Amino acid sequence: MLTIAVSKGRIYEDALPLLAEAGIIPVDDPKTCRKLILSTTRKDVQLVIIRATDVPTFVEYGAADLGIAGKDVLIEHGAESLYEPLDLNIACCRLMTAAHKDAPELKGRIRVATKYVKIAQSYFASKGIQAEIIKLYGSMELAPLVGLADCIVDLVDTGNTLKANDLEPRELIMNISSRLVVNKAAMKMKHEAISILLTQFEKTLANR
Ligand code: AMP
Repeated sequence: MLTIAVSKGRIYEDALPLLAEAGIIPVDDPKTCRKLILSTTRKDVQLVIIRATDVPTFVEYGAADLGIAGKDVLIEHGAESLYEPLDLNIACCRLMTAAHKDAPELKGRIRVATKYVKIAQSYFASKGIQAEIIKLYGSMELAPLVGLADCIVDLVDTGNTLKANDLEPRELIMNISSRLVVNKAAMKMKHEAISILLTQFEKTLANR
């Protein structure tokens, strides 16, 4: 049995066609079903539906053999303990700084609200900006509006969420896409099954 960890939402929706090409179609829909383990049309493959930030942890400890996670989450987790054989080129977006549209250029000592504490720390350090990082778990956009932070570090896709909150994107930290990650022990123990799957994904991606 191969277990693949995926998070609900954008990544799951974008991963579905890719999985389907490999014959993996979930039997239940996580939007309407509360099951956390989904059987698929392939008897030897199941999906576990978890939070995006938990995907590297499940794969690292071997609770899932494979996982699909954003590069943002992998860097923040510190993913040296995982293989990352494929860029799936899905759920693409940008990790950016953003501030109020009327706020001046960020310099001096600033406060930054984000869930990406490590990435933000190293980004501002590399720019020589003294940044106090405030960890938040969601609704980052609110922080500059209520005086909690001078700017945020968050994922931006269309930019509509920033715009709706009078914020604007400032600097690009990195482009993000979702990657396939593999547990190191599983890569050895289930080598054949995993390499067949990798080849199938590679073929689909090459034809896109
Ligand atoms: P948008 O309004 O299209 O710029 O999307 C921004 C919101 O969606 C923010 O709350 C982001 O954290 C979230 N978001 C954007 N792209 C992604 C992605 N690829 N994966 C997960 N969340 C995302």
